Amino acid sequence: MSITWELRDQDRETFAQELDSFVPARVYDAHAHLYRAEWWDDPPAEVAAGPPDITLEIYREQIAWILPGRELHGLHFAYPFPTNSASDIASANAWVSQEFAKDPLARGQFLVRPTDDPEWVRQEVRRLGLRGLKPFTYYSQVADILQAEIPDYFPEPIAAVADEQGWSITLHIVRSPGVADASNQRWIRHYCEKYPDMQLILDHCARGFNAYNVLKGLPALAGLDNLWIDTSSVCNSLAVEAVVRIIGPHRMLYGSDFYISHVRGTNFGVGDTFVGIDEDTPIGELEYNSNTVLLLGIENLRAVKAAFWCTGLSDTEVENYFWGNAAKLLGIE
Ligand SMILES: [Zn+2]
Repeated sequence: MSITWELRDQDRETFAQELDSFVPARVYDAHAHLYRAEWWDDPPAEVAAGPPDITLEIYREQIAWILPGRELHGLHFAYPFPTNSASDIASANAWVSQEFAKDPLARGQFLVRPTDDPEWVRQEVRRLGLRGLKPFTYYSQVADILQAEIPDYFPEPIAAVADEQGWSITLHIVRSPGVADASNQRWIRHYCEKYPDMQLILDHCARGFNAYNVLKGLPALAGLDNLWIDTSSVCNSLAVEAVVRIIGPHRMLYGSDFYISHVRGTNFGVGDTFVGIDEDTPIGELEYNSNTVLLLGIENLRAVKAAFWCTGLSDTEVENYFWGNAAKLLGIE
């Protein structure tokens, strides 16, 4: 199969039957990438198949595939471009700055590298009108970036600036056990306690693509007042349920992870790690018909809905997950 970028009847029908009555009229997307395909030397297949320039308008038009007819605003940032130069990262940040500024309710985060001077970061973020940071392990200087410890890609002097400025940080943790890793737990707790005015968002249910890592590790992070969790692109409901039970619904944020929302596939835990499937996966061997595979953003919403049903969330808690929590975190009326 080749990778496609399209909305199909099965996506529309699933939303209408399962999700239309669940998703409120107003949605804040706390994890929405804006980018240009030309920034990649070799773009991911979905990026190559989709629109080349993700402006705010194009993002809104496209995200309606998984959130049809909703009033939508978002927290935006670029993508890491590990093979590209500092000037490319600068143009990625400038792109986000220029695009999110079209919407007074939107917010933007700055793609930051651990080698960036903290005072330069403070000035740049302010100059661009952004109010937060998006670190990525791709910029860490360690040999195995997937085993990097948090300060390797988000150094403490940069966290201190974020605290002084009251910025949000969206952090994708790495290392094999994810949030069950002792180093990750130690650093998250240290940063949150020492820098209380920094708002730390662990994305993807604290990288909860394997729910058992969340069940094992997240209790170590309970009770931190400036810790938030976005549920973007997680397709297993147990990880979402664990976040509800351990951290609480008032600290959870909806996020699409656009363009990952538009991958046709899903993800799930295997052993102590996880796998993602897309149209390139030999899904015949997985014993289902490829015509039933949905957009990942739809699968994510199904997992969230199931988790909220299992934990008995009220309508107000569901509305806050889709809007009020993000509004509080980001200072939006
Ligand atoms: Zn993302």
